[in-house]
Amino acid sequence: MPKDIKVLVCGAAGKMGQSVVRAVDAEAGFKLIGAVDRSGNPNIGKDIGIICGINEIGVKLTSDLKEALSKLQPDVMVDFTMPEIVIVNAQMALKAGVRAVIGTTGMTKDDISELSKISKQNATGTIVAPNFAIGAVLMMKFAKEASKYFAHGEIIEFHHDKKLDAPSGTSIKSAELMAEARKVFGRDSVKGKETIKGARGAAGDGNIHIHSVRLPGLLAHQEIILAALGQTLTIRHDSYDRTSFMPGVLMAIKKVMELDHLVYGLENII
Ligand code: NAP
Repeated sequence: MPKDIKVLVCGAAGKMGQSVVRAVDAEAGFKLIGAVDRSGNPNIGKDIGIICGINEIGVKLTSDLKEALSKLQPDVMVDFTMPEIVIVNAQMALKAGVRAVIGTTGMTKDDISELSKISKQNATGTIVAPNFAIGAVLMMKFAKEASKYFAHGEIIEFHHDKKLDAPSGTSIKSAELMAEARKVFGRDSVKGKETIKGARGAAGDGNIHIHSVRLPGLLAHQEIILAALGQTLTIRHDSYDRTSFMPGVLMAIKKVMELDHLVYGLENII
């Protein structure tokens, strides 16, 4: 019988981290062996199962990632933390020979290249995915295909008001994929000045303008609007619940076991 994949979750007490703990705990073939969060978190020392509202699972929340990696020797570290910290965590894991599945957004292209280098040097697999929801991955794929036929496009992304980075990793990745199909969108077609700075959003890859909405009540949503003479095509995806990301996270944990390099984007492993 194949051995269970030993998983450590970093950011385990956070919103996504807790969902990952519940998903890993519930799925055959996976074993949660470590849970790490920021020192100062009031739940440090408590059982992560209790923190996540499931049964006691015998794994305590700790705050020293380096120690947890060397002591517990997980097969995979899953990171859902914060933009400023994820790169340090991922470097630590890869240098310890632990594969990384990274959902934290807000990393720069340079950060991803740096991780790609370390991943290759250590022959330790890494998956970085700005969105683990299958519907969001398909939205990006369909938008790339449609970009061959539409010369104009903009992205509106909507997230909860606690999100730390803007624009979202999904919108950045969407623009990157669309720009692979068409180098520049809507160049010079929009004249006029911004009366209020930022009104036209931020220009992503391919000069695709990205608009970020942050409101309580939302989770993660995005519309890609493509336009041609007299018509628009809108491709929209909505994540209403964090469970929408979990099948993708579990798939990435399995897949990363076979990798010796970094893969950026879930579309490359499905
Ligand atoms: P969150 O609830 O704020 O969770 C982040 C957790 O990381 C918190 O518990 C935080 O602790 C902890 N943390 C902070 N610094 C840390 C450190 N040095 N070491 C270990 N843990 C640390 O945020 P979230 O909503 O779960 O989102 C987390 C990330 O996932 C964000 O970047 C978000 O954009 C991304 N995300 C990705 C996907 C995807 O499909 N890829 C989907 C949804 C969200 P404190 O609260 O004590 O600071």
